[in-house]
Amino acid sequence: MACAPRIVIVGVWHGGMHVALRLKRLLRPGEATVTVVDAHAYMTYQPLLAEAAAGSLEPRHVVVPLRQALPWAQIITRQVLSLDHAQRTVYLRSTEGSPSPLRYDRLVWAPGSVSRLLPVPGLAEHGNGFKTVAEAIHLRNQVLGRLDAAAATSSAERRAAALTFVFVGGGFAGVEALAELQDMAHDACARYPELDPRAQRWILVEAADRILPEVGQQLSRYTADLLRRRGIDVRLGTRLLSAEGVRIRLDDGTEFDADTLVWTAGVAPSPLNRRTDLPLDERGRVRTTAFLSVVDTEDAWAVGDCAAVPDLAAGQGELCPPSAQHAVRQARVTARNVVASLRSGEPVAYRHASVGTVASLGLYQGAAEIRGVRLRGFPAWFAHRSYHLSQLPSANRRLRVVADWTLALFFPREIVSLASLEHTHDDFASAADQARPPEP
Ligand SMILES: Cc1cc2nc3c(=O)[nH]c(=O)nc-3n(C[C@H](O)[C@H](O)[C@H](O)COP(=O)(O)OP(=O)(O)OC[C@H]3O[C@@H](n4cnc5c(N)ncnc54)[C@H](O)[C@@H]3O)c2cc1C
Repeated sequence: MACAPRIVIVGVWHGGMHVALRLKRLLRPGEATVTVVDAHAYMTYQPLLAEAAAGSLEPRHVVVPLRQALPWAQIITRQVLSLDHAQRTVYLRSTEGSPSPLRYDRLVWAPGSVSRLLPVPGLAEHGNGFKTVAEAIHLRNQVLGRLDAAAATSSAERRAAALTFVFVGGGFAGVEALAELQDMAHDACARYPELDPRAQRWILVEAADRILPEVGQQLSRYTADLLRRRGIDVRLGTRLLSAEGVRIRLDDGTEFDADTLVWTAGVAPSPLNRRTDLPLDERGRVRTTAFLSVVDTEDAWAVGDCAAVPDLAAGQGELCPPSAQHAVRQARVTARNVVASLRSGEPVAYRHASVGTVASLGLYQGAAEIRGVRLRGFPAWFAHRSYHLSQLPSANRRLRVVADWTLALFFPREIVSLASLEHTHDDFASAADQARPPEP
């Protein structure tokens, strides 16, 4: 009896996860096997990262373990090194040294994107990204740790640097992270009698003349005004020139010291794209047709941030912007087309007109535009929570998130920094030093 064809999905966060979930619904028993490959053993629900960083959500609750969500699939937790689609082979990092091959019959490519860095001196050494749960936890520890450092120092210069937080990039990720963390730091500051809350400086640096390009002009202005009313220094049309040591230099002529620098100035397609034989566009995205199949290639589809997918709803020549909203919807169409290819059926084209955007700007504050209706303040914040709750791909996680939000109504936030978790061996190593017999 012939083996069932093997479908391999590379990258299992927003795009890949939803391809796998939809395949489960569409495939007949024994029709094909599904193997998912990801460097992580879990999917991260990125739109809730800002709340995880701010302590409104337990970080573990914004990740979905792959083995729990996809128990029927073969799960491989390994880094993908390269792809030879002509040979229908993905090469995985192996512990033995040479890359181990994984063969397939159909491929879904979804390795996403990475932070888009610019050659700014000092940025690589001193900047933090904001794409992963580890970065969210680190940033929370960093902000709370800086409050501790400011409270402990007698140097006015050191205190000012500790209490200065700079975010570069005014898209969703940057604005939400800054707004949520500033809210948390404001709450935390009430527990530090040594610190004047007005001494904190939160600065948002954006090269364009507006923030949140994803929403209309009016809502973008509203958000900038709201942030300014909260004491955040929003600098539009401004670029970061350098970040050497703790010295921040901006192209508006100002310079100051800041211990915390967060870079959220856009994303670039996964560099893994360049280690494949798939056709790429000038920005390094995999080129797809409107059916999400890879251009001029059989048996391969690409979804999400890694791909240049025609946006039929936006018009001729337009491409889908990188967003979870598109990745998830592209995933569902891809699963359908992969199954159609197994049954010699007709593929369907991907067409999705954005339903809108929602952003959380701290507790009870938000900005949203849903089907042309603009919401502000509490209704927007509520829409943000309801929408993302409905999109979390696990009932278990949805319940845990609701439990976190409910508990937050009755108890103040946790304001403890667990930065020591990032250096777990230090205490043990120092105890081992003490226990060492003196040199003769
Ligand atoms: C903080 C933040 C907030 C956001 N908020 C919103 C929002 O509110 N609304 C919205 O629509 N979008 C939002 N986005 C954007 C959205 O999260 C992305 O567009 C979406 O995640 C893209 O999905 P994807 O499947 O293409 O890639 P990803 O979700 O990035 O998944 C890529 C997967 O590939 C894996 N991978 C990559 N390289 C390898 C390799 N070499 N080997 C093995 N595995 C690999 C990664 O581990 C990851 O699991 C936000 C993004 C961030 C960072």
